[in-house]
Amino acid sequence: MHTFEFIRANNSDAAIATAAKAKTAQQGADVRFVAGGTTLLDLMKLEVETPTQLIDINRLPLDKIEVGPDGELSIGATVRNSTLAHDPIVQRDYSVLSQAILAGASAQLRNMATTAGNLVQRTRCMYFRDTALPCNKRTPGTGCPAITGANRMLAILGTSEHCIATNPSDMCVAMAALEATIHIQGPSGSRAVPFSDFHLLPGNTPDRETVLEPGDLITHVTLPPPVAGSKQFYLKLRDRASYEFALVSAAVVINVEAGIVTRVRLALGGVGTKPWRSLEAEAVLANQPATRENFRIAAEAAMSDAKPQSENGFKVELAKRCMTYALQQAIS
Ligand SMILES: Cc1cc2nc3c(=O)[nH]c(=O)nc-3n(C[C@H](O)[C@H](O)[C@H](O)COP(=O)(O)OP(=O)(O)OC[C@H]3O[C@@H](n4cnc5c(N)ncnc54)[C@H](O)[C@@H]3O)c2cc1C
Ligand code: SF4
Repeated sequence: MHTFEFIRANNSDAAIATAAKAKTAQQGADVRFVAGGTTLLDLMKLEVETPTQLIDINRLPLDKIEVGPDGELSIGATVRNSTLAHDPIVQRDYSVLSQAILAGASAQLRNMATTAGNLVQRTRCMYFRDTALPCNKRTPGTGCPAITGANRMLAILGTSEHCIATNPSDMCVAMAALEATIHIQGPSGSRAVPFSDFHLLPGNTPDRETVLEPGDLITHVTLPPPVAGSKQFYLKLRDRASYEFALVSAAVVINVEAGIVTRVRLALGGVGTKPWRSLEAEAVLANQPATRENFRIAAEAAMSDAKPQSENGFKVELAKRCMTYALQQAIS
């Protein structure tokens, strides 16, 4: 059992200065922020993560949900997933986000889990979570046993020969469809990162999962002003009805006028190495009749680059059906 120092942060600048001493902000970082702890402490118990310093950010003033003067919704980094899912503005204007969060984990976990922690949660690939086994993501250069092993739950989009792990988040799928922006405060200032640029594809560095650098603190996430008249739906397909990660999920934000799709955003979970926005499906549907046939054609387009692994070929058809049904449900 390794030991670590626990630091309660009372101000962001000091927390960032301490975290900036870490060699990396990614897997294996020796200084880590901790929020709800539902990912990090789990991995510390397994000795997958072994930080020497934990900076508790729960006292920082990052727990507000506010509408800005421009109509954007700002969600603080330490807003609990349950608070966010039950917020009246979120339920009214961004219902796909509320649905996605409530489809994840359990009530107890959602009461602890935070917005930023959910963004940075780690894969559930079983090899990653077992230090007796090789894993390129945990220990770069050791290999990826999942490619020839147990890969039923793993990804079919965005994979590389070095890693095929799925991003497990439900919340992130909705945020991809809502075109969120992630706000980061680091040692050299603040920056805003579009959601689609925040998570990285594994390529030949699967240990590097996000654009975060040492000292980078996620302060809040913003959602664009609500899209008038949009219909929203989140569909999660999994092995059991609750307390289970997605095999496939789809988040839909769609506007239909006189039977024609005037705007659509579609993102997928359970199939990508990062939360997966399907620009291909969106392009197929733009200005087309909102019919089941066109939804299926869009779903085919979304899966055109899919690379099934030895045990998860079923995800290709499951994803197509998931998307088609989610689009139908959104407009019904
Ligand atoms: C049994 C179980 C089932 C689950 N099921 C689901 C599910 O079905 N769907 C789903 O989506 N999720 C599921 N989860 C995952 C859960 O949603 C995440 O564990 C949770 O969202 C992480 O949030 P946290 O605040 O606890 O993060 P923490 O564990 O505190 O932190 C996670 C990571 O984020 C970093 N971090 C935290 N805050 C910041 C910040 N402000 N800036 C920069 N880095 C930060 C930490 O350093 C750490 O690396 C499940 C988890 C468990 C344990
Ligand atoms: S898929 Fe990624 S996380 Fe899983 S064993 Fe391979 S390298 Fe590790």
